[in-house]
Amino acid sequence: MSLTLLHILTLASLAVPFTQVKAETYRGPRLTVKPVFFVPKDASIPASDVGERFMRQMKIAQARYFELLGGLDTFQLAPKMTVVRSKTTIAELEKQPSGAAEFVVKELMAHDHVDRWSCPYVYVAFFVGTGDYPGGGGGRPINGGHNNGGGIIILSASLMDSVPNAQSTLQHELGHAFGLPHVDVYGYDMIGNDSIMSYNPKHHSDFFHQSPNPGNLIPEDMRGLAQNKWAFPNYRFNTKADVPANYTMRSDVTLGPMGLSTH
Ligand SMILES: [Zn+2]
Repeated sequence: MSLTLLHILTLASLAVPFTQVKAETYRGPRLTVKPVFFVPKDASIPASDVGERFMRQMKIAQARYFELLGGLDTFQLAPKMTVVRSKTTIAELEKQPSGAAEFVVKELMAHDHVDRWSCPYVYVAFFVGTGDYPGGGGGRPINGGHNNGGGIIILSASLMDSVPNAQSTLQHELGHAFGLPHVDVYGYDMIGNDSIMSYNPKHHSDFFHQSPNPGNLIPEDMRGLAQNKWAFPNYRFNTKADVPANYTMRSDVTLGPMGLSTH
């Protein structure tokens, strides 16, 4: 397929519900979570010890997902941080809408010579030199749904290295990038719920240490992740074992695709 046609399909996805778009589906290999230092042209590349701390955080999150998925699977993780030099300045980056998520994912896919349908990565983009920007961070699946390819997480490198609950935030944003919504879409309380996809302050990590009450997966989360075969091919959702007695499963909810406009 030519780039021009793909471009038209991408724009079409903005106008109509994604499920009605005869767009392509993901056609790559198993997904890899790929942590990246996203370095604007007027920022300095972080020292190697920062990268080592970030990889340690990534591995803690990977181990936690293994626990949460009952030891059946976890996400595949790149062996080291990638440094990507951006064409943008810090000020230009901070002016981008939506925390610059679309801008950054487009640059990262161009860097890796992939498009939204062939991108085998869940990028974890740590913005370098942006101070507290982009605030609490964010995460999205690029093409929406539970099982249609890669994702993007944006986080401030500065906050990642200085805020105690960075690890629990990382686990939450990974959930979004794998296709999970917040628990309020099921009618659950965002502050009190047991899910990593809530904002429950009891889940907050303390740097490299988990909370004594870390976030868990509720059955709706397990059902969602089990559908993501590109990320978790060995994980199965077992309705009998995974849904407590008297628990009413809510209808499935998926996140939409990113627009990825070209201007
Ligand atoms: Zn969230």
